[in-house]
Amino acid sequence: MKKITKLKRPNIPIKTQLQLWVVSAGRCQFPGCNEFVLQDKTTLSEGNYANIAHIISWTPTGPRGDTALSSKLGKDISNFMLMCLRHGKMIDTKKNIPLYTVDFLRKCKDAHESRIKIQTSIDISRKTTAVRLQTNIRGRLVAVSQPDVYTALVTAGRYPRDEKGIHIDLTNLHYSADKSSWDTAVRQIDSTLSTALASGNDERKEDHFSVFGIAPIPVLAYLGFKLGNVTPVDIYIKLREKPWSRVSSEPKLAFALIRPRSKDKTKAVALSIAISGTTSRAEIEKHLGKGTLVYEIRLKKSQIDQIECIEDLEAFRKLYREAIDEIRELHGKKCEVHLFGAMPTCAAIVCGREIIHGVDPSIVMYEHLSQEEGFMPALTIN
Ligand SMILES: [Zn+2]
Repeated sequence: MKKITKLKRPNIPIKTQLQLWVVSAGRCQFPGCNEFVLQDKTTLSEGNYANIAHIISWTPTGPRGDTALSSKLGKDISNFMLMCLRHGKMIDTKKNIPLYTVDFLRKCKDAHESRIKIQTSIDISRKTTAVRLQTNIRGRLVAVSQPDVYTALVTAGRYPRDEKGIHIDLTNLHYSADKSSWDTAVRQIDSTLSTALASGNDERKEDHFSVFGIAPIPVLAYLGFKLGNVTPVDIYIKLREKPWSRVSSEPKLAFALIRPRSKDKTKAVALSIAISGTTSRAEIEKHLGKGTLVYEIRLKKSQIDQIECIEDLEAFRKLYREAIDEIRELHGKKCEVHLFGAMPTCAAIVCGREIIHGVDPSIVMYEHLSQEEGFMPALTIN
């Protein structure tokens, strides 16, 4: 009787295995999985849960085997993928083989390895502290998720200083015409920031912040003011249906500063910011009286638009700074500027951040509550 000897899977050289662990960073290379294979993701217990998969099987009759190549690629790192046990098994299961072709798997491997290379290349000096502010807007929770924040940081070439960052959670608040909800927001921002900054070492005080916030305009402006303009801050932009980003591109918007004709020093001073909407003079005068001196920052070309890139945000910042300087020179630093804003969240943070403590006038931030209720003075900055 003819003796049948079953072929034994040849050992993969240690050097090749080591290379594979390094280029994959110990994460499953199946697209979308990325599981860290030295830990069980449910129990977090440590162990080796990896499968080193062959793209072209080591035997011509195996998954994606090839008469010419199978024997040649036994030591070649280009033929191996690190996978979690589930995906290692899945790609070699007979009925799945037509789906997971050599070409498909090579593309997945290349994409994973180039992503790991880029992410691990971010210099440690590019570290930043992520500041997340989340709250309810009109009763709806606006979540700012940690994974989304990480993705945005890495895409912007930043390195999160620690996993937690600074998380300002205002989800217990419901903003209304009642002043107390706004006072609570202010207190919570103050206490979260002071605890977070005190618990870090001194180095943190000179850190770099990356800010992700969706909240009513006065709350975001207050956060911007508290972060100040000494420590560098990157403000991230959130557009509907798109991830957080710091997209750099050709500026699209041009802003104009419209000044009041009168310089009557007995009148109140208002600053209207009209980017995503407009505020009527009548609405402002309802709060501040006839003849209020209304400065306005508005778009030159269209009535409303959104800020999509950091160049446009910077153009807004410059003009806002100019407006505040001009108001301070004309009306003195003791005047109060009543700010009525219809603007994107990123611009609201700028409005607070530009205000220099003790140098600039106080800014009374108004919130638009609803069509019926109109605006209310929510909180004061500086
Ligand atoms: Zn996997």
